Amino acid sequence: MTKNKSTEQGTISIHSENIFPIIKKWLYSEKEVFLRELVSNAVDAIHKMQHVNLVEGLQIADEYRVDVLLDKDNKTLTIKDNGIGMTADEIRRYINQIAFSSAEEFVEKFKDLEDKSQIIGHFGLGFYSAFMVSKKVEIRSLSYQTDASGAHWSCDGSTSYELAEVDKNERGTEIILNLDDDELEFLEPVRVREVLTKYCNFLPIAIHLDGDVVNDQNPLWTRMASELSDDDYKDFYRKLYPFSDDPLFWIHLNIDFPFNLKGILYFPKLTTEFDVTKSHIKLFCNQVFVSDNCAELIPEFLTPLQGCLDAPDLPLNVSRSYLQNDPQVRKIRDVITSRVAGKLIELDKLDRKAFSAIWADIHTFVKFGMMRDDKFYEKLNDHMLFALSGSDEWTTLPEYLENSSAAKATSIYYTNDEVAQATYLKLFKAQGLDVLVLDDQIDSHFMQFLEMKNSEIHFARVDADVTENLLEQTAASDLVDDEGKTRDERITALFKETLQDENLEIRVERLKDESVPAMALFSEQDRRFQEMTRTLGKEISIPDKAPSLLINASSPVVQNILDLHAKQKTEDVELLVAQVYDLAMLTCRAFDQERMVRFLDRSNQLLARVSPDEG
Ligand code: ADP
Repeated sequence: MTKNKSTEQGTISIHSENIFPIIKKWLYSEKEVFLRELVSNAVDAIHKMQHVNLVEGLQIADEYRVDVLLDKDNKTLTIKDNGIGMTADEIRRYINQIAFSSAEEFVEKFKDLEDKSQIIGHFGLGFYSAFMVSKKVEIRSLSYQTDASGAHWSCDGSTSYELAEVDKNERGTEIILNLDDDELEFLEPVRVREVLTKYCNFLPIAIHLDGDVVNDQNPLWTRMASELSDDDYKDFYRKLYPFSDDPLFWIHLNIDFPFNLKGILYFPKLTTEFDVTKSHIKLFCNQVFVSDNCAELIPEFLTPLQGCLDAPDLPLNVSRSYLQNDPQVRKIRDVITSRVAGKLIELDKLDRKAFSAIWADIHTFVKFGMMRDDKFYEKLNDHMLFALSGSDEWTTLPEYLENSSAAKATSIYYTNDEVAQATYLKLFKAQGLDVLVLDDQIDSHFMQFLEMKNSEIHFARVDADVTENLLEQTAASDLVDDEGKTRDERITALFKETLQDENLEIRVERLKDESVPAMALFSEQDRRFQEMTRTLGKEISIPDKAPSLLINASSPVVQNILDLHAKQKTEDVELLVAQVYDLAMLTCRAFDQERMVRFLDRSNQLLARVSPDEG
């Protein structure tokens, strides 16, 4: 076969040092990437052919394809393409010189890096990654150029190679890997398919294995958003994450300028198994899978995002710490943030009900994002949703403020526990005042953040203080009794005397709602201060400031207590005063056992008194 064909022998090495042992050891745990590198090269060669075909008007009408061929008898894995091919001279230049020096440079650059998985992509290693799994690598190639003859190159992993002419009729390149004895897993179709699915699943040229095309050549992100339906996006999501619920929303990126970025990102329906602290994005470079661990590309508060990003301009053979500060990466994060904000606004405008349905899943991330990123805050400020207590309606801050200013409210009222604060909620409801439910862990920080951002915003928990809106505007009577006391003063004195608590502050007011005899009030300031010290740690232990007791002078119960006092029914007065006090406190303090027992005993006594005697 080799008649008239001479064989050239040479050495690859520019330096005397042999880099193959380093390459062999390189990324030991990820040897399988060789397949990505070689299949990508094959696809590149086809792209070059397509390009030359176009500009030189060659009228080649081939079906372009890459074949991965497994030969168990000869223990070879071959990657075959019908791309542009190489002449012997090109092999000398591209494989012996350029590829070698770039592989060498790459190894040089990263040989000291301890955690090799820190490197985001391993591009640049390219062709020589074949030596990670092979004892000998061969190239058989026929260039597209007219009169080109076939070239055969072979190298056993030392620094010398052989290059000879060979008979080859089909244009293109075959890379033949004579596998190492302990790499024979790469002769198993199942294993090879697995690797191809991982790295080459979305390559734009058909990749054949065992008679099948293994890849989807037109992944959704390469198509126009305008020609896709919701079902297309959901189907693609199911392909990527087979057993997941439908995503909550998605964004389709298709940016050409000022940089290239394509992709589809999904916000998943969160389940308890979902790890919100780890990155879920699959990063591609021109449809070649690079990594599924690239947290740097996504703003921290959007880490749950899943899906694919194709960022061909990203420098891939760099370490993570470098990537973190790369201006390009920052721009990508900004684009994603702004597109997510835009999407949320769109959802709110389109269908508030549907938007509120996903709000529970996303609100923590949105709030966190607003606290982290000013632009995100500016955009979403008017579209954050707040649940209204006692209804299934949702509101936004501007809407709430508009309503509440009509009701002349001075604060934004909220509850963080609808059950415990039920008494207060009833009062607010009776007066037509809306109360927001802010009961998530992030909410106390978030409220403070909003107050800091906007001096006109002031949050007050429903039990923080009685607002003017809840009080009767009629003045207290200033009629005095024999001892010179007004009615309010008598009420205060009676409660003080009966309760015997030095520190308890008592206030008498007229609530519009007569049915509540008393309320415990806890100033917003004090409560926040306490919450803060609690989160700071136990060392600073400040005694809990007692809430003050507001007595409702309009309540018939309070009038009844005054009447009983006048009739000197001391025992009844004591029972009722203590009960009114406990009922008020019960909403904001957990009783200790002793107090609970007393409360229950007293309740039973009171029941006995209002029940008619038997017989
Ligand atoms: P890179 O692909 O990053 O340039 P490689 O080491 O993978 O580096 O390849 C070196 C060069 O060898 C390529 O740039 C290309 O010119 C040539 N080459 C590699 N594989 C093929 C192929 N299948 N067909 C044609 N040329 C190839």
